[in-house]
Amino acid sequence: MAYEKVQGDHLFDGEKLWGREKVLVRDQQGRKIDIINANEAGDNVNYVPGLITPGFVNAHCHIELSHLKNVVPRHTGLVPFLLQVVSKRDFGPRVIQDRIADAIQEMKEDGIIAVGDICNTTDSLEQKLGSGIHWQNFVEVLSITEARAPEMIGHYSSILALYESKGVGRSSLVPHASYTVCAKALSMINDATEGRLISIHNQETRAEDHLFQTGESEFLELYRYFGISSSPFRVTGKSSIRSYLPYFNKGQTIILVHNTFMPEEDIEWANDYAKSNGINLVYCFCVNANLYIENALPPIQQFIDRGCRIVIGTDSYSSNTELKISHEIATIRDRYPSIPAETILKWATVNGADVLGIDTVWITGCRLQVTGCR
Ligand SMILES: [Zn+2]
Repeated sequence: MAYEKVQGDHLFDGEKLWGREKVLVRDQQGRKIDIINANEAGDNVNYVPGLITPGFVNAHCHIELSHLKNVVPRHTGLVPFLLQVVSKRDFGPRVIQDRIADAIQEMKEDGIIAVGDICNTTDSLEQKLGSGIHWQNFVEVLSITEARAPEMIGHYSSILALYESKGVGRSSLVPHASYTVCAKALSMINDATEGRLISIHNQETRAEDHLFQTGESEFLELYRYFGISSSPFRVTGKSSIRSYLPYFNKGQTIILVHNTFMPEEDIEWANDYAKSNGINLVYCFCVNANLYIENALPPIQQFIDRGCRIVIGTDSYSSNTELKISHEIATIRDRYPSIPAETILKWATVNGADVLGIDTVWITGCRLQVTGCR
């Protein structure tokens, strides 16, 4: 079998970061055959400057929103942000397609090999075909009112069927967030996703907990925009995650995205709930998007301390200036200097591949700064 021996300035083997003393042996598809000591590697070792690592996995993106780059102002908070996103409709299909193509190219150049991508439409379908990236399409349901739940589930199921029929990676139906998916739709999604990988935006703003704890919440403004005069959600007196997670109990793996305002006691509660109800939780952080929208950061150390499974995402161009996992890693290193580089690299690579259920592909020549802190 044809294979290649590559040496970089650093090699991350999925657990540990090495210097030039290790050499990757990989096949033509980029899969690892072995990692060997440089002094035993013999001839024909190609030196490529930079880092050798399992490829990056972008666990949360909305590539179909790539035309919103530099459109939405920063630091508005989530509700004004969402109102901006839903009202920006003046983009033609050509622009949308071109921006998606540019975004795919940018991700590939960053060493991203797989993407968990939110789809509310089929806009990204054509560009994904033959892109060389593994796609996990999260076809995302928005269904605020109970009355329209069956109609909305039907609509998004037909989008899901299109992704599945074209064979673009894997696809599943997912809820958008606690404040946009009613109880009836949550139950229908639970029934439709037994044993599947799904995702939900979780506790991205304080207003999300307020909606369920008191009913007084900034989200009422969002509902008014959609012509709904009062909150369609039952006040449970509990936090957002304690209000929606009990609708899920069919062996799903659920990627909780953002978790910016998730209190310690909710992390413990969620992990206990998952254990006793046979579901798996994965926590995805998109720190540049959190800084862009809320100018806030999630308490990542608390998730580490509780042994949570962690992955990394970029979110979309509506709330980020780049769709690069290397940029997310750099921001995490900068903002959380006590977290070791190896830990963050693991989240960005093998953890993501494991959650998406793919064999990893190794990349070379990555220019990410991995020693010291910036
Ligand atoms: Zn998102």
